Amino acid sequence: PSALVWLRRDLRCDDHAALYHALRRYKKVYCAFVFDTDLLDALPTRVDRRVEFIHESVLELNSSLQALAARSGVRGGGLIVRHGPAVQCIVQLAQELGVREVLANRDYEPEAIARDRIVADALRAAGVGFSDYKDHALLDRDEVLTQQGRPYSVFTPYYRAWLQKLDDFQLKPYPIECYAHHLAPRPAGQILPALADLGFAPTNLRDLALPTGTSGAQRLLQDFLPRMSAYQEARDYPGRKGVSYLSVHLRFGTISIRQVAALAAKQAAQGCAGARVWLSELAWRDFYFMILWHNPQLVTQSFKSGYDRVQWDDAPDLWNAWSAARTGYPLVDAALRQLLQTGYMHNRLRMVVASFLTKDLGIDWRRGERFFAQHLNDYDLAANNGGWQWAASTGCDAQPWFRIFNPVTQSQRFDPDGNFIRRYLPELSKVPTARIHYPAAMKPAELAACGLRLGVDYPLPVVDHARARTRTLMRFSFLSEQ
Ligand code: FAD
Repeated sequence: PSALVWLRRDLRCDDHAALYHALRRYKKVYCAFVFDTDLLDALPTRVDRRVEFIHESVLELNSSLQALAARSGVRGGGLIVRHGPAVQCIVQLAQELGVREVLANRDYEPEAIARDRIVADALRAAGVGFSDYKDHALLDRDEVLTQQGRPYSVFTPYYRAWLQKLDDFQLKPYPIECYAHHLAPRPAGQILPALADLGFAPTNLRDLALPTGTSGAQRLLQDFLPRMSAYQEARDYPGRKGVSYLSVHLRFGTISIRQVAALAAKQAAQGCAGARVWLSELAWRDFYFMILWHNPQLVTQSFKSGYDRVQWDDAPDLWNAWSAARTGYPLVDAALRQLLQTGYMHNRLRMVVASFLTKDLGIDWRRGERFFAQHLNDYDLAANNGGWQWAASTGCDAQPWFRIFNPVTQSQRFDPDGNFIRRYLPELSKVPTARIHYPAAMKPAELAACGLRLGVDYPLPVVDHARARTRTLMRFSFLSEQ
């Protein structure tokens, strides 16, 4: 009997749960990836770094699978790639190959869960089984519950319980190599589509410091490991190389979460404070997967009941300024330019710009969430929704609504020398550090000295922070009466 492993956001063939289970149980295992037109057609443009990242990573995965099969004495191994609606492609492929079962790694997003249910039903009707496995998370769904058997909604006690459960078994890699002789040769005539065949144009991905595929992920990991011990001090400064930049790889599974968590857990156990903090960030990832899985309504609704009664502003001019990185607050604008130019934004800046949109501009977090969904390379519904609802105070374990970031003091604290701002706002390159966080406060002589025309070269602030803060406190104040 044979089986088909359907790869989705797990683009690797090492330490892979579904692949391991298939290889252990079946003598012939095929691997397939579908460029799903249901997802691709919904993208607003045909120039998308994520599609190019996936495409490059799929090409590498094909080579890795070929090599793995060859090392195990199987000739003609590799990845089967299809382009079309995923449900149809997988059901058709399962029938063509005559497999007994399709295996995949589990997703936590409501739409993906619904898609998998449809696939499972269609396969069952054709006499083929479907099973899914935990792979993206270290601990998922109901694995970490309160003593009353309910899901946590506050991170700190969740994290304590999560750490207790995270034993060596959870961190053990799946030994794929031992069973790789069960990989099946690909059917003849397989062609890997080029990016253009998918209807997409190249992006600036190759110009970015963002290596793709499993080899790219390992390079970033090797680069980060010596820096991990400094993570807890360095991670908050967007101008410093303090974080791992692994998020896009964790998003598309070009690296195993068990591999990175095992390294962090080992260093944490040896007393490394940076590793402990980094491990807790990986726990946030599990936490938000778990929250979304238990609360699929979060895609459109606030986690906290009552918070959907907050009256947000429409404010098209303010929205346009924010989304074009022209708010007049340099750290906010530099952050948004980083996002638009590279598809990445530093975590501290995600918090700052999300707070600015919701608390300074009074715009609904859902609009910001969608904007990030369009532009982030590492866009992940669970983490993104969690992050936005945290900043907007509508989420579980969120900022209280009366805590409002000041975009200028955030800038002074986290980009003290203004280097990050200067990198993305060259028009402010000559502004002295003392003034770069809020050029609107510069006197005419100071502006003249650095040749900056406010309102021409760089916008005036679109709102006054103190006034915006008062408005936000009023907007949320009905909650204190509840
Ligand atoms: P590191 O600091 O090196 O952290 C390591 C890994 O831990 C990350 O790669 C990520 O997988 C995980 N992680 C870290 N922080 C968080 C967090 N708060 N929540 C969940 N996982 C976390 N992260 C995404 O992966 N996708 C998103 O779409 C996303 N949207 C966000 C939106 C907002 C408004 C906010 C405030 C945060 C968002 N985050 C998101 C979380 C975080 O900003 C990114 O994971 C991080 O900046 C990625 O950079 P890194 O890989 O260098 O992170």
